[in-house]
Amino acid sequence: MRCSFCDRPLECALCRKVYEPPDEAAYHALSDPEAAIDCPECEASLVCYWCQTPYSKLGDEEEGEN
Ligand SMILES: [Zn+2]
Ligand SMILES: [Zn+2]
Repeated sequence: MRCSFCDRPLECALCRKVYEPPDEAAYHALSDPEAAIDCPECEASLVCYWCQTPYSKLGDEEEGEN
């Protein structure tokens, strides 16, 4: 699938494996800020190789806590 931030193929920054959600729940987890996604290949937290955006705890810096 494509990275939702840089629109390149979503590759794990560590092993360069293109991430494909195995099921619908995994797909939705990509846009869930509470979900942590691990690379199925190397089991590291998934980070986009191209834009270095981590796919776990998204929005930590975007969302204010006021
Ligand atoms: Zn990996
Ligand atoms: Zn990206």
